[in-house]
Amino acid sequence: MTHVFHRNPRGKLPVAVAGEGMVLIDHEGKRYIDASGGAAVSCLGHGHPRVVEAIRKQVGQLAYAHTSFFTTEPAEELAAMLAAAAPGSLNHVYFLSGGSEAVEAALKLARQYHVESGQPQRQYFIARRQSYHGNTLGALAIGGNAWRREMFMPLLIEAHHVSPCYAYRERKDGESDAQYVQRLADELEHKILSLGADKVAAFIAETVVGATAGAVPPVADYFRKMRAVCDKYGVLLILDEVMSGMGRTGYLFACEEDGVQPDIVAIAKGLGAGYQPIGAMICSDRIYEAIVQGSGFFQHGHTYIGHATACAAAIAVQNAIREDQLLDNVRQRGEQLRAALRESFSEQAHVGDIRGRGLFVGVELVADRASKAPLDPSLRTHARVKAEAMKRGLLVYPMGGTIDGRRGDHILLAPPFIATRQDIDDIVGRLAEAVAAAVATA
Ligand code: PMP
Repeated sequence: MTHVFHRNPRGKLPVAVAGEGMVLIDHEGKRYIDASGGAAVSCLGHGHPRVVEAIRKQVGQLAYAHTSFFTTEPAEELAAMLAAAAPGSLNHVYFLSGGSEAVEAALKLARQYHVESGQPQRQYFIARRQSYHGNTLGALAIGGNAWRREMFMPLLIEAHHVSPCYAYRERKDGESDAQYVQRLADELEHKILSLGADKVAAFIAETVVGATAGAVPPVADYFRKMRAVCDKYGVLLILDEVMSGMGRTGYLFACEEDGVQPDIVAIAKGLGAGYQPIGAMICSDRIYEAIVQGSGFFQHGHTYIGHATACAAAIAVQNAIREDQLLDNVRQRGEQLRAALRESFSEQAHVGDIRGRGLFVGVELVADRASKAPLDPSLRTHARVKAEAMKRGLLVYPMGGTIDGRRGDHILLAPPFIATRQDIDDIVGRLAEAVAAAVATA
């Protein structure tokens, strides 16, 4: 009997007792290569000595001070680092304890910005049908994941959805990138106009889709076009980089590659690399100034915002990424990973698509490659791949996203940025065996 209320109370989990670099070790001494960094969290692997030391030092000096009385050196230093690295005028960092909190704060800030700017009628949020923005009520409401929302519908704010940018499934035959992107931009424009051009507060999207469809990158120019539509109607652009940000794609901010600056960006997971729970929302000068010139107070707050120890850990993570030039490694190992997966799965009829950016890679499983028909959801193939992988000492993140209203099967790979060439080969070898075993009865 256990007193921890587990995610799946009927399941039985191994007990993780130690972590060393790319590897997690359970109570029986079994070793697992952490090829998903948990859920794209552990970007420096486990037991990183410089991060551990920074946490030890900060806890000894000052673990925590409440933000209504004090700021702290780690919070100021980390905010300055992030503001210097973030695109354009994204200069104002509001710390939180995780991804859902960062998204909630972004939604509230967008709303408050419009109220303070004399447009209180702007109340609607537009998100994308295939999206995950968190599990708290606001983040859940805007997310496009129907099965997660269903039970809670009566409690949720009204949210509106447009198509995701999901070329593998939604680009029409013969449609060019430019035509596809134009179609999606037109859809957003129509949605804004149907809600009332002056009623929409913000459009929110994951820069690279994570938890619903395994690392789906946007088509070239997608975000530039969407930004232009938002600008035309005074709608804010919020990018959710909780999973894709902080170096995961080979850039500290995934949107750098897309050449767009959002009004607000949400980050989390890789920021603390799992060493401490921390997230953040970063907003532009324009949004910040509206609050400063207006009420002078962002109507929000949590007990643990700007937690000194969490900020100290995140500074150490950022320093390690820079000092060890890990973003270069992310880009190189990411190329290697996708190439190795393509080669290894070239004959695997149940692998429909391999995609991603940097060390953020998705594998989509299908019943049939040519028709792209999803696997029978009752087989729960994604969960079987996870189980078969664990048997082989490999951790991959399984997902049952929604395809055409049905749950599809995806595997997310998000190995730590320290992965070597050898680690990548090892991951691909074990995954190929796990997928073959999982689909054997499909
Ligand atoms: N946004 C995105 C894009 C995510 O992937 C997640 C977590 N999977 C969240 C928000 C929510 O983050 P958290 O679980 O830390 O609340």
